[in-house]
Amino acid sequence: MIELDGSVGEGGGQILRTALGLSLVTGSPFRIANVRAGRERPGLMRQHLTAVEAATKVGDARVTGAGIGSMELTFEPKAVRPGRYSFAVGTAGSTTLVLQTVLPALLTASGSSTLELSGGTHNPFAPPFDFIDRVFLPIVRRMGPQVRAHLERPGFYPAGGGRFTVEVEPVRTLSPIEILERGDIVERRATAIVAGVPESVAERELRVVERKLGWDPSCLVKTVLPPAFGPGNVLMLEVHSSVVGELCTGFGERDVRAEGVAHHAIDEMRHYLGSQVPVGVHLADQLLIPVAMAGAGAFRTMPLSRHARTNVDVVNRFLQVDVAVSEEPNRSCVVKFGVE
Ligand code: ATP
Repeated sequence: MIELDGSVGEGGGQILRTALGLSLVTGSPFRIANVRAGRERPGLMRQHLTAVEAATKVGDARVTGAGIGSMELTFEPKAVRPGRYSFAVGTAGSTTLVLQTVLPALLTASGSSTLELSGGTHNPFAPPFDFIDRVFLPIVRRMGPQVRAHLERPGFYPAGGGRFTVEVEPVRTLSPIEILERGDIVERRATAIVAGVPESVAERELRVVERKLGWDPSCLVKTVLPPAFGPGNVLMLEVHSSVVGELCTGFGERDVRAEGVAHHAIDEMRHYLGSQVPVGVHLADQLLIPVAMAGAGAFRTMPLSRHARTNVDVVNRFLQVDVAVSEEPNRSCVVKFGVE
């Protein structure tokens, strides 16, 4: 039984999600203590519990400690069962983080799967659906599996009510991938979505993007959704080269002006564009798992966040793969994976 301490590093939910994902992939059982001890409200929250329940179903697992607020959990999977699943977070908790938990095992399962996830699809502190669809999954597809995601209805914090589906055609083993150069940016898009929020909010956000980033008006997209889908407002800025993409998000919040939402996303995008690296901060975090599963590969990114370093430590507990992080000039680093 692999023993984990959920308070190390960031002490957040990522340790748990990565452990669940890799326990399914490897069949190795684990016990985790001090779950999310570094957070203001520690223990399992609704979103983490849904991830545990989803992993339990997919892995036909025996579990103890799966309750709201629980700070200790044991997880013993039997076998990965591909198939049709429906996972509901129940609140506006992030559905994409539930996907992040079960997807790795389904990428190399013995048959195809269809997932339906409902809850929040555009949540702060989680990948928005569009990031999964247009930044993360295109890279996963290059590693072999065919995975398609389809947004049926967006769900914003705090109302939730979103839904998306994912179809997975697995492969026996993932192919290694190398992403070391970005290449020229060939596509830019800024999408401002409002639901039950004045249209002028989206227009103001896009005006700031046009002024500050100098993007052509043809790249600016305003999406007005029915008020029943809201209240919600997000601004997503994305760029793509022929190799890789990045998507930076600003989330509308009460008491934050539209211009403030835009500045947040613009600052992140400028940071990415200025860094010259191909793989952005969040993509780096999320790619660690599939690339480690492939057993070989490399990518260039910005200096690893504490979040990503904690993730590397958990990967090392489950997989026999050496993850070497080398600091490079211009504040970049290369993360290289190889068999020990
Ligand atoms: P908690 O303990 O509250 O659950 P956490 O440890 O799970 O927190 P976060 O730092 O909230 O972790 O990140 C969760 C995941 O969401 C990570 O995989 C991160 O890369 C991803 N993520 C967070 N924000 C974004 C964003 N704006 N775009 C893309 N991915 C994001």
